[in-house]
Amino acid sequence: MTIRTRFAPSPTGYLHVGGARTALFSWLYARKHGGEFVLRIEDTDLERSSEESVNAILEGMTWLGLEYDQGPFFQTQRFVRYKEVITQLLEQGDAYYCYCSKDELDTMREEQRAAKQKPRYDGRCRHLKKPKQGVDPVIRFKNPLEGSVTVKDVVKGDVVFQNSELDDLVIARPDGSPTYNLTVVVDDLDMAMTHVIRGDDHLNNSPRQINIFKALKADVPVYAHVPMILGDDGARLSKRHGAVSVMSYRDQGYLPEALLNYLVRLGWSHGDQEIFTIEELIQLFDVEDVNKAASSFNTDKLLWLNQHYIKTSEPEHIAHHLSWHMGQRGIDPVTDGPALSDVVKLQQERAKTLVEMAENSVFFYLVVKEYDEKAARKNLGLASLDVLKDMHQRLKVLTDWAAEPIHDEIKACSVQREIGMGKVAQPIRVAITGNTISPPLDATLTLLGRERTLSAIQQAIIWVEQSHTDN
Ligand code: GLU
Repeated sequence: MTIRTRFAPSPTGYLHVGGARTALFSWLYARKHGGEFVLRIEDTDLERSSEESVNAILEGMTWLGLEYDQGPFFQTQRFVRYKEVITQLLEQGDAYYCYCSKDELDTMREEQRAAKQKPRYDGRCRHLKKPKQGVDPVIRFKNPLEGSVTVKDVVKGDVVFQNSELDDLVIARPDGSPTYNLTVVVDDLDMAMTHVIRGDDHLNNSPRQINIFKALKADVPVYAHVPMILGDDGARLSKRHGAVSVMSYRDQGYLPEALLNYLVRLGWSHGDQEIFTIEELIQLFDVEDVNKAASSFNTDKLLWLNQHYIKTSEPEHIAHHLSWHMGQRGIDPVTDGPALSDVVKLQQERAKTLVEMAENSVFFYLVVKEYDEKAARKNLGLASLDVLKDMHQRLKVLTDWAAEPIHDEIKACSVQREIGMGKVAQPIRVAITGNTISPPLDATLTLLGRERTLSAIQQAIIWVEQSHTDN
């Protein structure tokens, strides 16, 4: 048997971290067993679904690297098939037309409430012999009246539902369009799903879906309902807690592997190991080991993981992700300056996020337009003028443009002027970065190149002269 799992988002918004974690669990499970992972877009709610959301979900999946073996399938393209199954259920006596009007249903529920019963459809159209004229009926599934349904859930254990608690579910609306629980069953059946891994907000749908599977004489898939993610205040994670969209984590400078590593640990563990490569996860993950209880999102830990991955990943890999952030700043690293992977090598020990790294690397590609006020006040005073001029001359004639000779010149300048090396390095740093933050100066200048270094120092010289005359 080939293990087949799916991710079945409704395209009513972006891909959020909860959905991404469910997708990750399904993906890992399929990969672990050499199975197949399917993407299915559940877009039957036409009012709430949008193409924009579909694209946002696909973008999120791609960014995370959760590649699917089949799909995306779209439920809106499968209406003929759903109709076929609805007709089959009608013909075999497992579904029936219901002509009850909204008023009738409301009255029924009110009466039930008054009699202290749980409001539910009482099945009054089950035995209608003749259709009612002038009413477009819905179609209801004939849920078994007696007995119970057990959801054999690998995360939650056996969850038993009494059939007497489940009323006859509407499976087709008056316009004939199928409803959610029907389409999910037909798809899980047709797409040969062996495992349904999804959020535990769907646990209550499972007994209904199992009854439909049984009516169709089909095998019921294995269920795994994974608990939700909570915010740090214990409430269900939502926009209120800040970023919940997967792509907003890219925007904030996280690497996809950091987010994946973080998400997998929310509700799953392997001893006290915190850092996992994807290969390790594929090997170690098992949906049976997912916690029953909800877990809380912790941004500090995500940040810690991100820093770890930034420090330890191949520079080319980081450069690939960093180039998007440079593009956001109007920079094309391929044409505008040094190889981005060389910049990464200098920066990767120093940044917690790619946003931070990008901001601190702009100067490699764009000429500094403004100096940070505090940095300039401290380091580009009149005293810096001679230092800058001296260094300009030294660097101009330096034969070998490399870190060591550059370092030697900074040192020689400081010795000759009887000032600390910082008094030489900091004005240059402000001249080239606009600020006081950069990797070691010799390595930075080496990468920046002679021409850009000299023109930045020259620009600073003019600035110091002018600001002095202005005063
Ligand atoms: N479309 C449902 C959702 O986005 C998921 C249904 C399922 O996984 O069975 O919540």
